[in-house]
Amino acid sequence: MSATGTPIAVITGASSGIGAATARHLAAAGHHVVVTARRKDRIEALAAELTAAGHLATAYALDVTDRAAVDAFAAELDRFPSVNVLVNNAGGALGADPVATGDPADWRQMYETNVIGTLHVTQALLPALTASGDGTVVVLSSTAGHGTYEGGAGYVAAKHGAHVLAETLRLEIVGTPVRVIEIAPGMVRTEEFASTRFRGDEEKAAKVYEGVAEPLTADDVADTITWAITRPSHVNVDLLLLRPRAQASNTKVHREV
Ligand code: NAP
Repeated sequence: MSATGTPIAVITGASSGIGAATARHLAAAGHHVVVTARRKDRIEALAAELTAAGHLATAYALDVTDRAAVDAFAAELDRFPSVNVLVNNAGGALGADPVATGDPADWRQMYETNVIGTLHVTQALLPALTASGDGTVVVLSSTAGHGTYEGGAGYVAAKHGAHVLAETLRLEIVGTPVRVIEIAPGMVRTEEFASTRFRGDEEKAAKVYEGVAEPLTADDVADTITWAITRPSHVNVDLLLLRPRAQASNTKVHREV
């Protein structure tokens, strides 16, 4: 809580998509949001927008793969009386190549961001979350953390890692006042996810959503995250998997063409 009793929520990867939407939703739900990502200009603009709307928001530039930077960030948070919520959202996919030809560098980078990044920030903030007496760790995995699809193995492997991190942490810290919530979305149309995956090839990125009536939006996922966080403290939403109605599985998508 802040000095005024406002809960503090840290969100990684808040410079776009689901992370930015989650910051807006958690701020509206009464949290002081600490928004982090590598692109300083974007998180500063988001913090300014939220502050202008009467919310409490602080921006902090952070690369979750940089352990020293994450530790310095955790030390910086000592100025708050406590940290109540951590949303591990930073992550994403790179490439959609088959196992036979996938680039090991892409696989490494996805593991570094989605798994090691989540590990870094969770380890660094767990003492403060525990000391708060009522902490919540959210891990944004994916339906890719629960089943595979052709061309997705590098991302699928990384998101399975994020899922295992969440599930194991929940076992290990049971009895402490910290919940571990995993949110696993299916197809979400955000501005950057597919474009990053295909390295700026907007044609390929658009194909991901082609003919799909209503993919999930960043707001849909942010709403779900905020719902899970705002349940009473003794209620632990272990795992919430959500998809658009048009997507029955990772490989079965209804397209109107
Ligand atoms: P996005 O718009 O591409 O956002 C990714 C965010 O992660 C950005 O804010 C980016 O900010 C940040 N990020 C990337 N690498 C980082 C690093 N090393 N350190 C700190 N921040 C980093 O994607 P999104 O769709 O909102 O996805 C958000 C999360 O949901 C990801 O974990 C993604 O895997 C997951 N997810 C997405 C979907 C989907 O269909 N879109 C489905 C299921 C799960 P900077 O570049 O400024 O650092």
